[in-house]
Amino acid sequence: MLDLFTVLNKGGLVLWQHAFTSLSGGPVEALIKNVLIEERSGTDTYFKDTYALKWTFANELDLVFVVAYQKILQLSYIDELLETVKRLFIDTFKDTVVADQGIYGDYSPFDDMFSKVLLSLEQKHSSNRARVPRKFEDTKKFGSTLKGSQAPANNTSFSASTTTSVLTVDDDEITKNIKALKLQASPRGPGKGGRKQGPRNTNSTPNSTTPEKKKSQKQMRTWDGQIAKGEMEALDYSGGGNSDSVDQDMVKAQHLDESKLGTKNQQGIYEVQDVDIVDDDDEVDDKDETDITQQQQQSSGTGVFSFLKSITGQREMTADTLDPVLATMKDMMINKNVAKEIADRLCESVKSSLIGKKLGSFERVSAVVRTSMESALKRILTPKTSLDILRDIEQAKSEKRPYVITFIGVNGVGKSTNLSKVCFWLLQNNAKVLIAACDTFRSGAVEQLRVHARNLRALQTSGGGVVELFERGYGKDSAGIAKDAITYAGANNFDVVLIDTAGRMQDNEPLMRALSKLVSVNNPDKIIFVGEALVGNEAVDQLTKFNNALKDFSGLQNPRHIDGMILTKFDTIDDKVGAALTMTYITGQPIYFVGCGQTYLDLKNLRVSHIVQSLLRN
Ligand code: GDP
Repeated sequence: MLDLFTVLNKGGLVLWQHAFTSLSGGPVEALIKNVLIEERSGTDTYFKDTYALKWTFANELDLVFVVAYQKILQLSYIDELLETVKRLFIDTFKDTVVADQGIYGDYSPFDDMFSKVLLSLEQKHSSNRARVPRKFEDTKKFGSTLKGSQAPANNTSFSASTTTSVLTVDDDEITKNIKALKLQASPRGPGKGGRKQGPRNTNSTPNSTTPEKKKSQKQMRTWDGQIAKGEMEALDYSGGGNSDSVDQDMVKAQHLDESKLGTKNQQGIYEVQDVDIVDDDDEVDDKDETDITQQQQQSSGTGVFSFLKSITGQREMTADTLDPVLATMKDMMINKNVAKEIADRLCESVKSSLIGKKLGSFERVSAVVRTSMESALKRILTPKTSLDILRDIEQAKSEKRPYVITFIGVNGVGKSTNLSKVCFWLLQNNAKVLIAACDTFRSGAVEQLRVHARNLRALQTSGGGVVELFERGYGKDSAGIAKDAITYAGANNFDVVLIDTAGRMQDNEPLMRALSKLVSVNNPDKIIFVGEALVGNEAVDQLTKFNNALKDFSGLQNPRHIDGMILTKFDTIDDKVGAALTMTYITGQPIYFVGCGQTYLDLKNLRVSHIVQSLLRN
């Protein structure tokens, strides 16, 4: 049994809907926000609370057809229902939809048509499932009887095909059924409106059951959850004189390179610099455009016919015309270090939003795909929450409590170093900061932070900033140390607590449980995932498993998740900024800063436009 069927425009406006019950928790709104806007529509089904939602696009009219039902139900007719309703709706109302001008008609006559489609499909699929014996009237034998020979060969009811494959959405069958429905709906018969809809390409839906390329599985780097001794040593940057030398470099560099200092804005707030990763030469890459166009021509046929097609301005984008362009774009993204799985999903999503759309005169598929990809990237990367940590700190201050940030991530990515850079930024803004040394696991971790705190104090020549280290040595429960640190900070009027945690591999369950405990016991204001900008496909695994651990091991009804990221070692990647996209796509959370080197000044802002331009540049 369905809960809702709704037809929306791509701006989320409901044009027609049939609700079978009142829905709680806004599943359709969640679908729009989390899937359609965030370019995750390449996926098959979206689950929200107890609901499952499926959808299909009619890009030629900028419409989305959505069906919602209880996820425990196995409804085999959903894909067919979506396709059939879409076809019927378009066929009946396409003249009343002027999407680009926001002009729509009255779709209430669709109520009746929809009910008939649904009823027929429910009957068809329930009879298929139950394998109900056919009525005598439906058998060949009946045709040879006197009564049977007098019966009409074809009635106009919706055909409940006897196909055995209940999941197959057959184009011809849908067209046949739509014709039958139109005959039923119109007392004047098929002449009404005079328009007939030819079979359409059903690939426009991610839910389509037409055979599609199977999404390739990500080749994951294997981590066994344990770090070999050699690796551990390599990751241990704090032991012996190592941490001192690195950290002394940071102090020296700070004095030497004032060009890296941020600036104070009009409100007197110290802001870090923006990353500069885009060349001045911002021209569209002609070579790429030419390549793409050539590929298109090869796939869709060259010569007079395609020339004529191109000037008629009536070309509809199909999977065949889009695939080569998207394949080139996908390669480009993977070259920029976007995880393959994410590049796949994103291209699939852009494809599903373009199939069926008409190209204007002289408009090239490559240009349309590029524009569509650009706006998709902007939507994904634009932060959905405020990035203003300083304002949040002020808010916590007014509540007479310290603001708590926890830094998490795998080993050696730069958690302690970048925590210290964040501390430097806070000190420049006169904050009183307590660093909590909660990596009680790796030898040298506490000493490393001690050196950072000492350096930061030494650099703090002006303003009211204060930094102190809260440490309890090794081998103790890090959740307890964090709790004590927060209590201490509250009692001593610290504005901010920065919690350093032990690096851990995402598959190491005991350590992930400990992290989840630290988070659920202390409920920090922000959980910042620190990840390397160099990471490729591995980012998906890391973020998914960290988020899952925070959820699964918390024992809380409303578990926490990663609130944002710091991307480190950005100075080592040239323009291969793909990790920024991968991480934002996976978490839906923003990148607060990027680390661009080993000094306290090497913390920068990453602008959305920078990432987008960089990703789309060959
Ligand atoms: P943790 O184990 O995650 O705490 O990592 P550390 O903070 O100890 O950093 C590991 C290494 O990465 C150190 O050598 C840092 O100097 C280096 N590192 C951290 N951030 C950056 C960065 O943004 N750029 C570069 N080039 N190196 C960095």
